[in-house]
Amino acid sequence: MAVPVAQQRKLTQRSGNICAFPGCGLLLTAQGTPEDPVVVLGEMAHIVAESPNGPRGDSPLTPEERNRYENLILLCNQHHQLIDSEGALAKYTVERLHAMKETHEQRIERRLGGRSNVPTELPPMVNDTVYSNVLPVTQMPRYIYGAPCSVGRENEVRPAAASAGTMTPFILREGRLWAFQDLRDTSNPFVDVVACTETERFSTKEWWTDPDRLGWYVALLNRSLNKLTGRLGLRLDHDHHRYYFEPEAAGVERSVPYRPLNASRATRSVVWQPKKRATGEARNYWLHRAVSLRFFLIGDNQWCLSVRPELRVTSDGFESIQAKYIGRQVTRKKSRLFNHDLLGEVQFWRDFLGRSTPRIFFPFGTDRQNLIVSTSLSSGQVRWPGIPPEHDMPFKNVDYVDDLFTWAEAEGLSEDDDAADEDDDAEETLR
Ligand SMILES: [Zn+2]
Ligand SMILES: [Zn+2]
Repeated sequence: MAVPVAQQRKLTQRSGNICAFPGCGLLLTAQGTPEDPVVVLGEMAHIVAESPNGPRGDSPLTPEERNRYENLILLCNQHHQLIDSEGALAKYTVERLHAMKETHEQRIERRLGGRSNVPTELPPMVNDTVYSNVLPVTQMPRYIYGAPCSVGRENEVRPAAASAGTMTPFILREGRLWAFQDLRDTSNPFVDVVACTETERFSTKEWWTDPDRLGWYVALLNRSLNKLTGRLGLRLDHDHHRYYFEPEAAGVERSVPYRPLNASRATRSVVWQPKKRATGEARNYWLHRAVSLRFFLIGDNQWCLSVRPELRVTSDGFESIQAKYIGRQVTRKKSRLFNHDLLGEVQFWRDFLGRSTPRIFFPFGTDRQNLIVSTSLSSGQVRWPGIPPEHDMPFKNVDYVDDLFTWAEAEGLSEDDDAADEDDDAEETLR
């Protein structure tokens, strides 16, 4: 009975093609002649002999087991002869040869610096829930309506007051006005500027498969976001495509009530002038909570809204300033931001945008034409080694931080005017 090829390969590979006898180190292939370029010097020695009468052959192993990798040791011819020699059998026992082989294979693995894909010891696994900063869209308008428009500029369109609370986002493209309201209906908000009788209707899904129309569609969704945030009193920062809080009056800090992660009610600063902890002296800039909101399509028809908290920096509560003039405070905040801070921020925004309800509602005037975003954070169950105890806060998604939370202004900061007490400030202003 021969040693199966798979077993042979396992043995030679794990042995590094080197004799396993301690101190030998002979490479078991050698340069041969041009006709037979590689000479194999290695021998697959049996630990328990193949035959019951051979060296160490007195064993309960079956014939098949005797020809397996587990019972073989790769040796040069000299050392094969040595271990099998009559006088040495008492010295080279089954146990000793197994130990020799194991030591050799471990040394080979270490010396080659390879990475084992089977860790010798797996960390204990735990079940966790991880949260993302993505909210699922639960309803999209079914149709988009387009009709020839008599004006050429969007700021010349003045939608008529529709029914109370209705949003009227629209775009002008290729001479047509596009909206979620049914433009065939002569009571539509755009009736003054569109030719109702020439209305085209598209299924929204049709638009999602066309890259150009998909762009138009996202523009319509972004207009809808402008409407929503405008109603909530947020300002649009055009340069960064995000929304932010302004002070209600010059020089006055602002906070708003919300429902935090682990309590029924709390207040959060949304516009403030940081103070130096040591002296209480006000710094020369203001911070504003801001949010970047982005609709995106997953797969064929699942839309999501990503909620990315940011900070806007101004000199006086109104005038935007370049982050490079501010110093490194904001950088510190970024680097110190762990998972629970992120979730606290995302929680603030989803609560604010959804007014503490299960959904963010964009009413376009007809039942099936509304946009509804669930305020349930997308989450998933994972089975993993868990996170280090020092990061083990009530919400465990520390791995997401890099992707989800970036302080846009913080990039490229280097100046540092007042580093000593900034750590404390960062703590203070984040909580
Ligand atoms: Zn042998
Ligand atoms: Zn040897």
